[in-house]
Amino acid sequence: MIESTMMHFPLTLTHVLDRAARLFGTSEIVSRLPDKSLHRHTYRDFHARAIALAGALQRLGLKKGDRVATLMWNHYAHLEAYLAVPCAGGVLHTLNLRLHPDDIAYIARHAGDRFLIVDDVLLPLFEKFREQAAFEHVIVVPLSGAAVSAGDDYEKLLAERFPFVPPELEENDPAGMCYTSGTTGRPKGVVYSHRSIVLHSLATAMADYLGLSNRDTVTPVVPMFHVNAWGLPFTALMVGAKLVMPGPHLDAVSLLDLYEAEQVNVTAGVPTLWHGIQQALDREPQRWRLVPGMRMIVGGAACPEALIRGLDRHGVRVIPGWGMTETSPVGLFNFTKREMADDDDASDASYARRAKAGVPLPFFEVRALADGREVPWDGDTMGELEVRGPWVAASYHDEPGSGEQWSADGWFRTGDIATIDAAGYVKITDRIKDLVKSGGEWISSIDLENALAAHPAVQEAAVIAVPHPKWGERPLAVVVAKEGASVTSEALHAHLSSFAAYARPAAYVFVAEIPRTSTGKMMKAKLREAYKDWRWT
Ligand code: ADP
Repeated sequence: MIESTMMHFPLTLTHVLDRAARLFGTSEIVSRLPDKSLHRHTYRDFHARAIALAGALQRLGLKKGDRVATLMWNHYAHLEAYLAVPCAGGVLHTLNLRLHPDDIAYIARHAGDRFLIVDDVLLPLFEKFREQAAFEHVIVVPLSGAAVSAGDDYEKLLAERFPFVPPELEENDPAGMCYTSGTTGRPKGVVYSHRSIVLHSLATAMADYLGLSNRDTVTPVVPMFHVNAWGLPFTALMVGAKLVMPGPHLDAVSLLDLYEAEQVNVTAGVPTLWHGIQQALDREPQRWRLVPGMRMIVGGAACPEALIRGLDRHGVRVIPGWGMTETSPVGLFNFTKREMADDDDASDASYARRAKAGVPLPFFEVRALADGREVPWDGDTMGELEVRGPWVAASYHDEPGSGEQWSADGWFRTGDIATIDAAGYVKITDRIKDLVKSGGEWISSIDLENALAAHPAVQEAAVIAVPHPKWGERPLAVVVAKEGASVTSEALHAHLSSFAAYARPAAYVFVAEIPRTSTGKMMKAKLREAYKDWRWT
């Protein structure tokens, strides 16, 4: 019998916080405030303030496992809460400020939130659900500089420098929680551990994935209330990158101004956001001096190939990744493997590969199942994507009866339909609920949407399943034309001639906009409802 002689060293965020000050004290954190001015401080300041916040929370009575909610934009104080709360033994619960106030209240109660840290500019929203939630302590961040009356003043609390007594932390202790955005059902809570966040940070930071380093300047545009801004704040702090936080200004021009001013070279967000950026760059290609080869990480929904091509023309590299609230979120990330490195980067095959969701991270395992059997990795056969790994949820918080989301042998059923090719690239073709089943064939709505989006007159398109008397369902394309452009159904149908006849939309409708969820995804359920009585001719 032999035992390992290695130390038991817990994987906790305390290490990330200490490291930030010890090794990267001079790294900068820049935040854009509501009045558009820039707030600047260093990791050293950040560390001192996070410790002061941890002390203040303890003084207010925070006990291990207590939930501390945040209702905040992306900025320095949110970052302080990201580390202070878990390091004080609390559980950071980021509330999605784009949800309906009733839903925010439901989620806060369901999570059992005791504390709330809220931006002063979000107090009008908070007032709409304050009565329905049950916070014992409210701390207000004076972002706009106005006097605070709705709760404790964040800055005054920090200035007290209450002593912080670090609690004993185990790596499996809860550190944060997030609710699914509810695109396909009621929001459900996932509780992350110190260990899962640390491992997720280490894996995503690797060169082939986010490839984050101390020399990068990173802007998470994805909100910090959307699955920990995909872990970027933790990963960036771990490597000591410069962080540039956009605050509440998320329009394309504001973001491009910020990218240029701070020379940002890595940013992340949902596809709709990058559409806006591409349009602004197309309109005024000479206006901004961006860092050449700037990387834009796209996630949350499938990345249209047209977006990758469109931004390539401006020297911006779009890189898709895939994830879910239940997977912390990153599980797949797209990079060019050595065996493909010599391919012509501008070929159609290369673009098709670059638009896939990506290759699994180390310790993140994938399989796709159809009719209870694993489908081959042939890049063609579709199946439901199942995943497992140390940063994948094994259950939901306080949600009895949700066990069917996990297979008998312990894999998480994602509800996404995918193909996996021989090189391990996963392509998401649909969500199960969005799949079109026509005459026994599965039709990928995402493939059709991306092909439609590549038409020069199309801004964006959603393809939905509509009941059909003969075929069960047929695809209907809901199309938004580009401003000033006009296009016909016939032209679009001809544009899709590479698809099999049965797989092309059976009809096209033109609308001014497609409804979106709180996290920027197309609300297909709403579209299906709107067109359920469609009369096929
Ligand atoms: P919700 O499930 O409520 O929308 P999430 O934010 O957890 O909340 O979304 C996860 C889902 O987003 C995935 O199941 C998938 O359908 C979609 N998604 C994320 N990244 C991608 C991607 N690269 N390609 C296609 N779909 C994606």
